[in-house]
Amino acid sequence: MSIVQVDTPGGRYPIHVAPGRLDRLAESIPADATAIALVTNPTVAALYGERVEKALARSGKPVIRITLPDGEAHKDWQTLNLIFDGLLRNRCDRKSVLVALGGGVIGDMCGFAAASYMRGIRFLQVPTTLLAQVDSSVGGKTAINHPLGKNMIGAFHQPVAVEIDTDVLRTLPPREISAGLAEVVKYGLIIDAEFFDWCERNAAKMRALDPEAISHAIRRSCELKSQVVSQDERESGLRAILNFGHTFGHAIEAGLGYGQWLHGEAVGCGMVQAAELSVLTHGLPAESARRVRALVAAIGCPVQPPDLGVDRWIDLMQVDKKTEGGTLRFILLPEIGRACFEPAPLDALKQVLAGAASA
Ligand code: NAD
Ligand code: MG
Repeated sequence: MSIVQVDTPGGRYPIHVAPGRLDRLAESIPADATAIALVTNPTVAALYGERVEKALARSGKPVIRITLPDGEAHKDWQTLNLIFDGLLRNRCDRKSVLVALGGGVIGDMCGFAAASYMRGIRFLQVPTTLLAQVDSSVGGKTAINHPLGKNMIGAFHQPVAVEIDTDVLRTLPPREISAGLAEVVKYGLIIDAEFFDWCERNAAKMRALDPEAISHAIRRSCELKSQVVSQDERESGLRAILNFGHTFGHAIEAGLGYGQWLHGEAVGCGMVQAAELSVLTHGLPAESARRVRALVAAIGCPVQPPDLGVDRWIDLMQVDKKTEGGTLRFILLPEIGRACFEPAPLDALKQVLAGAASA
């Protein structure tokens, strides 16, 4: 088993990465817990619900199950309330522990419920999608959506542990694997050139869920995210580099309508565009941008952006949380493995966006 330690002002906790972790969840339940509430959805419950309930019961604590409807469309206030309903009906007190079993949607909602139930209780992340294992379960950001914006209502709340069972990825659709791999590649691009090289050599193995390759990819991603988050828990600076490719990606998601492309697919394509912009503005070698495109394609994500029209692209990107006073700022790469966060000249941006229409 690999252990990655996360150390933030808001909490210190381990990330355990190993096949079969689902059966050992009781080890991460704090000794003074009074009850465990397992929060999941019908898709994940059908696959792993009973097994996880049994594993949690080994802690000797009572276990209740709260099942939320599946999907990003339900990451909202009404669904969040179902968690509070379940907790209050079962008289869960401040020493109860929530367990988030599912992808990023369950993790974000369960985390936010834990942040606010009785002013904050403990929770355990058990991420079951690749995206959740390498990204959303680490770092303590929790949120729900508002009809006027994604992730607009939330809190920082760190889990007591993150339990990653690499075996659960076998039931995940291949598109979800590719989408998660986009975030894996992102870590190499922004902070670890050697890891990017490793991803190039192991793209096919990661996609095929080769046990050694996927474990290494997950562990290294968690280490790198943890390094960033430990230095800047609340995104006052450095943490912003984790949004590499996301300004373009969010525009794709919003422009095509959420759900057309998976988030990771849009980020994959967005990283290709951000690399092209970096060639124009930060001296990234054209050969490096070509490598980014080749790797994004190799992990199974789209590399050709949709033709939204330059004006609409710019409108959509302005909604992104990274604009300040109307100037568009991007995470850009002077070289593979190093990122900076700066405004980009409009003419260079338009040149990249014109590529979306011409190719
Ligand atoms: P998701 O949670 O919707 O999961 C995708 C689908 O896979 C769902 O239908 C789910 O039920 C199913 N599923 C989950 N595990 C499975 C398994 N092992 N086998 C088969 N099916 C399985 O999507 P996601 O990509 O995991 O997460 C996206 C969410 O994460 C978004 O809401 C996003 O805002 C959030 N997010 C949060 C952070 C953060 O820092 N908090 C970071 C990135 C993303
Ligand atoms: Mg992302």
